[in-house]
Amino acid sequence: MSRAWLIGAGPGDPELMTVKAMRALAVADVVLVDDLVNPEILRMAGPQAQIVHVGKRGGHASTPQREIVALMLMHLRAGRSVARLKGGDPFVFGRGGEELQALQAQGVPVEIVNGITAGIAAPTTLGIPVTHRGLTQGAIFVTGHGAGDDEPDWRALAATGLTLVVYMGIRRLEDIAAQLLQAGMSPHTPCAAIESATLSTQRQVIAPLSTLPAEVRAAAIGSPSIIVIGDVVSLAHPPGTAAPTHVPERPAPPRMLSVGIGFRQGVTADQIEAAVRAALGPHSLAEVAAMATLDRKADDPALVRFCERHAIALVRCAPAQIEACLAAHPRLPRSDTVYAHTGVHAVCEPCALLASPGSTSLAQKYAGDGITVAIAVMPGAATKDNLQHDAQPESRNDEDR
Ligand code: SAH
Repeated sequence: MSRAWLIGAGPGDPELMTVKAMRALAVADVVLVDDLVNPEILRMAGPQAQIVHVGKRGGHASTPQREIVALMLMHLRAGRSVARLKGGDPFVFGRGGEELQALQAQGVPVEIVNGITAGIAAPTTLGIPVTHRGLTQGAIFVTGHGAGDDEPDWRALAATGLTLVVYMGIRRLEDIAAQLLQAGMSPHTPCAAIESATLSTQRQVIAPLSTLPAEVRAAAIGSPSIIVIGDVVSLAHPPGTAAPTHVPERPAPPRMLSVGIGFRQGVTADQIEAAVRAALGPHSLAEVAAMATLDRKADDPALVRFCERHAIALVRCAPAQIEACLAAHPRLPRSDTVYAHTGVHAVCEPCALLASPGSTSLAQKYAGDGITVAIAVMPGAATKDNLQHDAQPESRNDEDR
């Protein structure tokens, strides 16, 4: 049987095709094209190539996935090589995985050729990197299309503090923004909506989360658009404008939280970070003034690295201080299991209180991975009502094992 390729055509600009994609396109006998592919890219197909449009734009009904696969098989069995061309990357919201499975089920070997995905290319056109040291530890690609059961968990996504790159989200933007705000994301979070990225028709709106939907509507930004949400958007400089020499910094929130942590040996700084972020919910690490733990654990390299990473003071608590704190707060949970491992009846709750003298309010979330985290709020902080109060049973405290 002849060759079959699943090719990513990139976001639109033909220059952003890969060399591998160009070569495959040049030799394919049949090219099956999706709706988002720039017609200019089809000039790279050889003169012999039969071009078949299977997308739904321009008023035509889209060809069902089943028929596309049947069509590919028909040409392949007739000895023709087939290139299946998709926008962006075939494996990012492109249903490429489904087509691959269907062809593999028929015993057809398929070569996958990656393309540059719109979620990276669109922000790049504005000088926005999806990750940037000091602003975010990562980026999440998510569909905005789903509703009901397919709806992404926007609350959980907001809590990560990572860049959100939303595909297919422009029609549901009002709803998405409302849910992120409700989840505690700052209304000042910088956002961009970028339509037809990398094409001459590209347009964009850059606005804070609170006004993004209204500004997108006013500018009539439509599909296809990528929405980028997160601090990296503060680096944006639209084409033709100079890069910002001074990156506008968001005013730092007051550091009104303290964290008590118990953990077993061998945890990594990243695991500590994930656990603390989970416990903080919508609050950011920038709000944490101090981390505290049992004195003999305070030199743990993972904990030290985590505190240095976020400029958080590290407080050591002696067992006697912890027991005194527990005696002063009879309602705090205590555990014989924890005692057996650490010599004190609890670690994270008393340490959180000891880290910020005067703090009384407490919220805790067991975060797993052998790590327990408790958050104390300093008196007068406006934040305490938002913290999650979902302490787990003591028996699940497996710190310090
Ligand atoms: N496989 C594609 C995504 C297909 S899903 C990729 O990797 O890029 C279709 C969605 O992709 C659109 O709704 C839009 O959110 C995004 N998209 C694709 N091309 C785009 C472009 N040139 N500009 C902005 N968004 C684009």
